[in-house]
Amino acid sequence: MTAHAPHPQTGPQAGGVRGERVRKVRARMAELGVDALLLSHGADLPWLTGYRAMPLERLTVLVLPGEGEPVLIVPALEAPRVPADDGVFALRPWSETEDPVALACALLSPNATYGISDRAWAGTVLGFQARLPDARWVPASQVTSPLRAVKDAAEIEVLGAAGRAADEVAAALQSGEIGLVGRTEAQVSAEIAARLVAAGHRRVNFAIVGSGPNAASPHHDPADRVIGPGETVVCDFGGEYCVDGDVGYCSDITRTVVTGDPGPEVRDCYAVLRSAQQAAVAAVAPGVSAEYVDAVARRTISDAGLGDRFIHRTGHGIGIEEHEEPYLVAGNDTALVAGHAFSIEPGIYVPGRFGMRLEDIVVVTEHGVQSLNRADHALAVVG
Ligand code: ZN
Ligand code: ZN
Ligand code: ZN
Repeated sequence: MTAHAPHPQTGPQAGGVRGERVRKVRARMAELGVDALLLSHGADLPWLTGYRAMPLERLTVLVLPGEGEPVLIVPALEAPRVPADDGVFALRPWSETEDPVALACALLSPNATYGISDRAWAGTVLGFQARLPDARWVPASQVTSPLRAVKDAAEIEVLGAAGRAADEVAAALQSGEIGLVGRTEAQVSAEIAARLVAAGHRRVNFAIVGSGPNAASPHHDPADRVIGPGETVVCDFGGEYCVDGDVGYCSDITRTVVTGDPGPEVRDCYAVLRSAQQAAVAAVAPGVSAEYVDAVARRTISDAGLGDRFIHRTGHGIGIEEHEEPYLVAGNDTALVAGHAFSIEPGIYVPGRFGMRLEDIVVVTEHGVQSLNRADHALAVVG
């Protein structure tokens, strides 16, 4: 349809995974009355094109109309990073003196409904709205999220490889290979990060290390605190893993360890946590609602009198993004289907004293659930 970047319509990928995704997206656009998607930053773009845009101020946008060829508008200097055209879209690089919003708007009608990336810069959204004042705007996630949440076999394979790589690091933590006592949280975090890369991750997304009272803060920022004996240490880490340079998928695992005998209270809490996590994993099956899995974990912890210590949802979907749909939280009645991949990560946090969390990534199968993390669930005592 466009003359920008002629390409064979019959390449090996043209009818492949990404072409199939575009077809599903278009079917849902038609259902929801969305005339075109404008996909800028975020995971929708790499999911459909294999291209992960840098978060530059310069505009990157895939204009994906209901019919006709999608056009990927990228800064010219970024064009070499766009994977070889696989017949899904045409490439339109823009030079520094061109107006990319005008280029995109030339492909759009003024009176239509557009789905724009949830992660697009506010400046981008406002730029489009100024140019197309009569258009209606919806978040692109309304179209893409439920589709992206259901992973295909190739995606599950990469998530599985990411999980195995994260498991290696967890095993090093649990075996005591990663020293804790006498080191700062930041030092341990740096070692975990280096090991994630050594295990095959392309990049590290986070490596939380919370020791002693800091373990009660679920997203603690590791810093100068020196880890002592007899403490609980929450280590939650993950990164982006890719196969053959293709789009990366995320790992995310939490293991809590203790540096010496933590005493009966911590041991009892951990037993509750472990059974809550196990029960929630066992509750996963096609047709079960996301909120039911959360309720199962929460009930186990509440029954032990610790309900108010579990201060976050039970889990989040995972894929190209660390956190995506489906969210395992009260109020989300989405029925799980085979291919949904998410974390199950209950926690117990006692402010000022200690905290703990146990997290695996699981994927819903035809008949039940498969865990993508195999690291030991027992409370490891390490030095
Ligand atoms: Zn988290
Ligand atoms: Zn995590
Ligand atoms: Zn997580």
